[in-house]
Amino acid sequence: MEIQTLHERFLSCEGVCTDTRKITKNCLFFALKGENFDGNTFTQQALEQGAKFVVIDDSSYEKDDNTILVNDVLSALQKLAMFHRDYLGIPIIALTGSNGKTTTKELIHTVLSKRYRTIATVGNLNNHIGVPLTLLSMTKNTEMGVVEMGANHQGEIAFLCKLAKPDFGYITNFGKAHLEGFGGTEGVIKGKSEMYNYLQDYGKQIFINNSDPIQVEKSRNANTILFADSELENQLKIHFLDASPFVHLEFQNQHISSHLIGSYNFNNIAAAIAIGNFFKVPTDSIKEAIESYIPTNNRSQIITRGSTEIILDAYNANPSSMTVALVHFSKQKHAKKIVILGDMFELGPEAKIEHQAIVDLVEKLDIQQALFLGENFNKAKCNNPQTIFYDSFQAFREDFNTESLNSALVLIKGSRGMALERVMELLD
Ligand code: ATP
Ligand code: MG
Repeated sequence: MEIQTLHERFLSCEGVCTDTRKITKNCLFFALKGENFDGNTFTQQALEQGAKFVVIDDSSYEKDDNTILVNDVLSALQKLAMFHRDYLGIPIIALTGSNGKTTTKELIHTVLSKRYRTIATVGNLNNHIGVPLTLLSMTKNTEMGVVEMGANHQGEIAFLCKLAKPDFGYITNFGKAHLEGFGGTEGVIKGKSEMYNYLQDYGKQIFINNSDPIQVEKSRNANTILFADSELENQLKIHFLDASPFVHLEFQNQHISSHLIGSYNFNNIAAAIAIGNFFKVPTDSIKEAIESYIPTNNRSQIITRGSTEIILDAYNANPSSMTVALVHFSKQKHAKKIVILGDMFELGPEAKIEHQAIVDLVEKLDIQQALFLGENFNKAKCNNPQTIFYDSFQAFREDFNTESLNSALVLIKGSRGMALERVMELLD
C-alpha cells in the first residue's frame, strides 16, 4: 500500500495501538512481532476489540477491508511516522544522552506547555518503536514536539533522527551507560554524537551546556545555542545556588526552587530553562513550570518512613549516575548516612572494574555504612567491616535487619533489573 493511503487511513482512525491489552476504539492496530509473539495472530481479536484497521504482514490473516497487508509491519510503522512528521511541519526537539533524558524531557514538556500545545514522549518510549509512536501521537493541533531517543548501539540515534527529523537537539551528557552495546566510553560518545551529526548536516540547532567540556568539544562548528552557569557573555546564564537536598537556582533574578534532588539535576533543569527561554516562554511561567514538576517512577524521590528518610533513586543506575548520586548524597548534612546499592547492568567487560570503583568511591566519601546487593558487587573487595555484600536481593531480605536504618538518611540506587524499590516494602 502507498504510504499516502496508509496515512489517510491513519488520519481516519483515533490513535495507534500495538498491544491488544490496550486497544482503544477506532485505533489503527500494528501487528508487530516480538520475541515470543506474532502480532498477526491477534488480528481478529484486535478487530473485535474495536480496532478500525489492522496492519499485518502475513497474508493468511487478511480479512475484508479491515486489514492492511504490508511487507513488514515494523517498517510500515516507521515509514508512516516519517511521513506524518513531514505532514505535521512543527518544530521538534530531540533529546538523547546517557542519563537524565526522561527527566529533562518532562521538564521541557512542562515548560513549553506553558505557551504551546506540546506533545512529548510518554514515559520512556524512546526506541525504534517508541519514537514512531510518539510522532504518531502528534496531531495538526500540536504546536511543538519533544522526542526522547534512547540507544544502546551505534547507528540507532542516526536512525531515530532520520525518522523524527528534529529541528533542535540536546544531549544531556555522555556517561558510562550501555557500555556493552556501544563498545566502551568512546563508543558512547560516538553513538550519542550521531544526533549532533544529523543536526549539523541539516543546518539545525543544538542546545549546549557550555559548562560541559564534552558537549562543547563535540558540537564544534555546529549551530549552537549556549547556556551555562557562568558570567561569560553570549550565553544564557543560569546559576546553581544549592542542592540541600532540592536543587535551587537563579535565572533572570528569579529564585527557582525545584523538587529535584542532586546537583546533577541542575543541568537537566538548566536545559529546560534554556529551551523555554529560546521559545519565548515568559520567565515567570518557566519558574512556575519547574517548581510544579515532581518526579515519579522511583526517580530521585524523597520518602519518609518513621525516623528514616529515604532517597529512592531505584529507577536506574550506571557508573556515571551512581557516581554523581553518591557524591551528592555524601554532602548531605546528616550524622548517619547509609547507602543500599544494587548492581549496574550492561557494562560488559568493564563490569568488574566499574563495580570495584563504586565500592572504592563509597569508602572515600562521608558515608557511614554501605550495603551492596547483586552478583557483581559481591565480587568486589573491601576491608571495611561495616560494609556488607549480598549476592542477591533475596539474601539481603533474609539477613538484613531494617531497624538499623532507624534515624538514618538512606540512598537506594541500582539498575532497573535489581528493582530496589522492593526495599521500601521491607520498611512498611
Ligand atoms: P533511560 O536510559 O532509562 O531512558 P534516562 O536517560 O531517561 O534513562 P532519567 O530516567 O531521567 O534518565 O534518570 C535516570 C537516573 O539518572 C536518575 O534517577 C538519576 O540518578 C540519573 N541522572 C539524571 N540526570 C542526570 C545527569 N544529568 N547526570 C547524571 N546522572 C543523571
Ligand atoms: Mg528515559
